Amino acid sequence: MSYSSWFQAHGEKHKAIIDRLSHLNDDELIEYFRFDNMVQKEPYFCPLYKDNKKCHDNNELNCYLCACSNFRFNEEGFEKKGEQTLYSKCDINSKDGSQYKSQSAIHQNCAGCFVPHSEQYIKKYFSRNWFKIMKNVMP
Ligand code: SF4
Repeated sequence: MSYSSWFQAHGEKHKAIIDRLSHLNDDELIEYFRFDNMVQKEPYFCPLYKDNKKCHDNNELNCYLCACSNFRFNEEGFEKKGEQTLYSKCDINSKDGSQYKSQSAIHQNCAGCFVPHSEQYIKKYFSRNWFKIMKNVMP
């Protein structure tokens, strides 16, 4: 699956949950997206849930803003760096981000970064419309 098709499909799954939970207020909705609750109630939201596995080893993990509004992805590549093409990057240059590099490609590696998963951050940029929060991720 390409990143763009994953992005679209994930946003639609997010929207289906939000539409179903319209009776919850914003704080309740954010709490609903806590990892432990999502594993139980929304087993198809993330492929890691079936193994009760976290993408980030942190007790505060909240899945509301997966994939991250600061991620930038371009299927054509942003630029060439010698033989390599830069396909993704972090818009805020998070100190906890890094890069995967192959002979031909460079991708952003978010494995060490917790920025979009804290509830403080989610509340700051909150919208019930996931696509609106993620509007700058892809061109
Ligand atoms: S490094 Fe962190 S802030 Fe940057 S795109 Fe990845 S998850 Fe988002």
